[in-house]
Amino acid sequence: MEVGRNSVIIKKRMARLLLLFCFVLGLWACESAQVPEYPQHLADCYRLHELTRKKTPAQPGDWLYNKPEEMHQSLKAYIASGPLKADSIRKKLYLVKIGTFDSQSQKIFEQALAYLSAYFQITADTIPGISEQQIPEQYKRVNQGQKQWKSIYILDSLLPRYRPGDAFALIAFTATDLYPDEAWNFVFGQAKLHAGLGVWSLARLGLTSADRGAYQLALQRALKIASHETGHMFSITHCVKNECNMNGSNSMPESDAQPEWLCWECLAKICYNRDVTPQAHLRSLLAFHQRIGADTATIRYYKTALRQLQIPVR
Ligand SMILES: [Zn+2]
Ligand SMILES: [Zn+2]
Repeated sequence: MEVGRNSVIIKKRMARLLLLFCFVLGLWACESAQVPEYPQHLADCYRLHELTRKKTPAQPGDWLYNKPEEMHQSLKAYIASGPLKADSIRKKLYLVKIGTFDSQSQKIFEQALAYLSAYFQITADTIPGISEQQIPEQYKRVNQGQKQWKSIYILDSLLPRYRPGDAFALIAFTATDLYPDEAWNFVFGQAKLHAGLGVWSLARLGLTSADRGAYQLALQRALKIASHETGHMFSITHCVKNECNMNGSNSMPESDAQPEWLCWECLAKICYNRDVTPQAHLRSLLAFHQRIGADTATIRYYKTALRQLQIPVR
């Protein structure tokens, strides 16, 4: 009897221990689900979260105002979505000019080429410029004294004819203003994201004088727009959580107020997509900004980010 009673006590103790073990295991599993094990290059991106500022509340007129449907795309959701990627065949980013460019616009075009290559860690190249004669007259107009071309025609009919076989994307720049259709006054640019085609105009970026400040501002705007739109081509949606280059924007002042760098999570999406380290992206962009004499805030950001990853910088 005594033996039997002891055996019941032991069984009860074992059951309690088993319960405790399961509880601890459950907690551990729960914790693991919240913090997925990412490879080193993505975990390194998370180390930049201290430099990432939360998005300030949207004001009337801002992109996010009255947009409760805009959802946060987490890194996990991005990976699960099977984003568009460059591959061994469609491996290059191509830029092309449409129409004539003055020397300042030409410089912006060349700098955008180097910037996009550094930003997405991808080979970027150009194809010979497309003459404006290739746009039929019915897709051209003069609106409020401004010459304009129809962006939809360029996207649907013109660019597909010039797209190289090894292009992940083909991005066109024009120095001429654009309009999407007759109901609109103008558009800064337009893209067919899944087709990897885009066209952006430099006409409204403030490139109006030979003043260096005006040039630097127009350049910064062009680089922001080009990298933001190309980010969409890699299936990255608008960033609604952090101050980030992937924030949506309703106007030039709103876009000007946004950073040209990425928050840690959008950077991790690029690093996942391109299978590159954040160090490579940050180093290339620091070198780019030092070369073009960018503003001190931008250079300081890239230096701080690299130091956060324990990369010594000058
Ligand atoms: Zn966008
Ligand atoms: Zn972001």
